[in-house]
Amino acid sequence: PPPGAPDIEIARAAKMRPILGLAEEKLGIPPEALVPYGHYKAKVSHDYIASLKDKPLGKLVLVTAVTPTPAGEGKTTTSVGLNDGLNHIGAKSVVCLREPSLGPCFGMKGGAAGGGRAQVVPMEDINLHFNGDFHAITAAHNLLSAMVDNHIHWGHEPKIDPRQIVWKRVLDMNDRALRDIVIGLGGPVHGVPRQDGFDITVASEVMAIFCLANDLKDLQERLGRMIVGYTYDKQPVTARDVGADGAMAVLLKDALQPNLVQSIEHAPAFIHGGPFGNIAHGCNSVMATRSALALSDIVVTEAGFGADLGAEKFFDIKCRQSGLRPDAVVLVCTIRALKMQGGVARADLDAENVQAVKDGAVNLKRHIANLEQFGLKPIVAINHFVKDSEAEIEAVRAICKARGVKVELSRHWEMGGEGAADLARAVVDELETGSPKVELLYPDDISLADKILTVAQKVYRAHDIHLSAKARRSLEQFEEMGYGHLPVCIAKTQYSFSADAKQMGAPTGHFLPVREARLSAGAGFIVAICGDIMTMPGLPRKPAALDIHLDENGLIQNLS
Ligand code: ADP
Ligand code: MG
Repeated sequence: PPPGAPDIEIARAAKMRPILGLAEEKLGIPPEALVPYGHYKAKVSHDYIASLKDKPLGKLVLVTAVTPTPAGEGKTTTSVGLNDGLNHIGAKSVVCLREPSLGPCFGMKGGAAGGGRAQVVPMEDINLHFNGDFHAITAAHNLLSAMVDNHIHWGHEPKIDPRQIVWKRVLDMNDRALRDIVIGLGGPVHGVPRQDGFDITVASEVMAIFCLANDLKDLQERLGRMIVGYTYDKQPVTARDVGADGAMAVLLKDALQPNLVQSIEHAPAFIHGGPFGNIAHGCNSVMATRSALALSDIVVTEAGFGADLGAEKFFDIKCRQSGLRPDAVVLVCTIRALKMQGGVARADLDAENVQAVKDGAVNLKRHIANLEQFGLKPIVAINHFVKDSEAEIEAVRAICKARGVKVELSRHWEMGGEGAADLARAVVDELETGSPKVELLYPDDISLADKILTVAQKVYRAHDIHLSAKARRSLEQFEEMGYGHLPVCIAKTQYSFSADAKQMGAPTGHFLPVREARLSAGAGFIVAICGDIMTMPGLPRKPAALDIHLDENGLIQNLS
């Protein structure tokens, strides 16, 4: 396909290698340690993963980004491209990514298997039903929902107050009509009427647990700790209290084995789990990341949204809980994102505007400074778009040089791994020479409100936080219940450092409004809801699904 051909055409033209041979050659995984799903996808067996326990770990490279435009800035594409680049220059490297959700595939943003010549394949399978993982998570979540309503129907102990249930139902689809519903209508044999609602599967606490669990045992214990509601005298009721934890773990057993696929250049890729980046931590599974580190010299992994959300949660939630620490961090920036941060309207992002790039670079510099607070000097990767002008690129280079950070232009979208070779060399150089001392933002033992304040002031550069009375009460209650040591997961807009999506650049002096706080006792964090956060997205006026179809040869068209 010509440069710029649709992603699906490039992906389909790729000559994939059988996954069993590729796994053995590139990672030394024996065929019997893999559970193949067809010829090009496989899960790595639980037994084999357990056998890797004492292997020395490779180096971990985190890929994060500046504040994104709604189109995305190419973290996934750059992660895939960087991994191809590393393999291209002869390094042994694996990429670890999240699995795509069907919601954005059929909605607005499209799939999440990279783009251009930096893609993972089989692209259609990865974007749709990938080895059944999200369906298993959906089923496990809804099994608990059904058991909660059954528990109430039969009047079991402990008695759940139907007005205080915090466990909803989930579906991997953008379906706004299900946000608020009433269930149990039709009379006494049809359940107890109550208000309910659906979230999208990626927002489920089960998804967050799936991605933070160390193994099957940890998975089952965490599932048991999840709180589904409260009794009439306000005592928490857990999934273990309703007896669902064991059956849920059974539904998730196979899914918890990480999926191995390849890029179009045959570089290995683990794609596993996909929690939301706002009300959850937005990273692929610990199981996949740790397995990859035991199997490879370098592991490239992506964290959701901009670095204010994704990287902060990667450090303060995933690293804190798992003990993993990155050895280098790549900060993806695009010329169009900087122009948007510099005040250019979305419709005008294609036109050259060097001044706007310079103005918008305050956003880039803020993200650089934030990452330095975690003890890492980022390497800036300019994810090259063909419309970027030389002068715009030069402006970013100059700003990075003046700021004392490495910067590389990366052309993986156009050229694949070869186009990312410079970036790959910069990463290898950083891994060989740097020895970062990673620091988490706050200790476990300060109050939950102080943790939120710390993130707000140090990362968002807010003046202060505004806790609603409801949020304050919840935080106090969670501390009384013994959850004060947990980290916080802040759910705010990804389009600004502040909670106001329209504040571009690097705002200061703002207030972070905390509307509500929720306890994810199994995942092990407290969610602070700041502003309107959608846990069940809707479809746009013209969803991508309108154009997706099978052609006369049975081939999928317009999946992107
Ligand atoms: P993120 O992971 O940051 O959300 P993605 O990597 O998924 O972003 O990229 C978002 C969209 O932008 C995808 O459709 C991808 O194909 C496209 N894209 C990414 N990088 C480039 C590029 N350099 N040139 C053109 N399109 C790109
Ligand atoms: Mg992505």
